[in-house]
Amino acid sequence: MTKITTVEVIRVSLPFETGGPRKGMRPSLDAWLSMECIMVKIKTSDGLEGWGEAFGHVMAPGTEAVLNNIIGPMLLGKDARGIAKRIDEIERPMHGLGRSGPMMYGLSAVDIALWDLAGKRAGMPVFRLLGGDSGILKKYASLMRYGGDIDAVAENVMRAKQNGYSTIKLHEVTVPAFRAARNAVEQEDNICLDVNCPWTVSEAKAIAEEILYDGFHWLEEPVWPPEDFIGLAEVRAEGVPISAGENMTTLHEFKSAFEAEAVDNIQPSVTKCGGISGMKRIFALAQAYSVRVVPHCFYWGPGYNATAHLAASRPEPTLLETAFIDLIVKPHDLFDASESSLDLTEKPGLGYEADWEALSNYVISRNSISD
Ligand SMILES: [Mg+2]
Repeated sequence: MTKITTVEVIRVSLPFETGGPRKGMRPSLDAWLSMECIMVKIKTSDGLEGWGEAFGHVMAPGTEAVLNNIIGPMLLGKDARGIAKRIDEIERPMHGLGRSGPMMYGLSAVDIALWDLAGKRAGMPVFRLLGGDSGILKKYASLMRYGGDIDAVAENVMRAKQNGYSTIKLHEVTVPAFRAARNAVEQEDNICLDVNCPWTVSEAKAIAEEILYDGFHWLEEPVWPPEDFIGLAEVRAEGVPISAGENMTTLHEFKSAFEAEAVDNIQPSVTKCGGISGMKRIFALAQAYSVRVVPHCFYWGPGYNATAHLAASRPEPTLLETAFIDLIVKPHDLFDASESSLDLTEKPGLGYEADWEALSNYVISRNSISD
């Protein structure tokens, strides 16, 4: 038995620059100045440690509390090798406490950390455990929102292209901003539009109709609320490729989206939808419905590594979303928005080796649970 001896929960907040005005990414909240990450470190009796990440951002304090008070204590003394069983024995009794949100985010972090441990125990990278062929990946640049400032949009799209990116995603919500991006680069460069659920179905259909011939690569989450899969399917019928999935959590939610024919691209988020195990289930389901997978990955911690390993495990090239921001410090070797590709190398597990000297000034809280 490889016993879980310690569960540590660490919350870190890194200030960042975006290369333009910061307006509207989170419309009713303060300007977004700092990117939070909740890391979970699980130590085992054989001397190994595994790293996971729970979805953070403004939900970080809630998720942190669930990990410290409910999930963490339930793991102590258990065998770290039984990944599916460890998750199941927490998820089932807690099913009435939220099928999305902090409970599922916390479980996602635990699953990721247990896979990291599995890789380290086996002496191989997680992408190889999952059957991957190469650890070399292409990324796509995921730009912050510049509040519709068309000069800032064009400038940053060009900056991303100069850094080697050929797929670039905006978080703008206006047609002039969409077209400023489209016109800033060549037609063969892919421009994606992530609008984060602002519109009614009829508003979204009108926009989709307006941009139908502009050659955008996809339109992401055009409809409020995100779980209106029938509405999303109606927008999709206009002919613009639709992406969504970062706000879906359980396998059955993904199934409902596929059944509704709501998406061309599915975007599961590893820190929300059940970690590496959850992502594997969704990959298989997407294959059965012939839907393309482009994982969501708007974070910089162990969840970034986990998404990279999952992308590298797939037979077809799978782009790794990378927030196109300048963090105040470089958190670890793998996260570098100025590079458009990366190599996971043969480091065992997830290869998450944080630069704690650099991160230590930005730790908000740290709690250790042990026997
Ligand atoms: Mg998105």
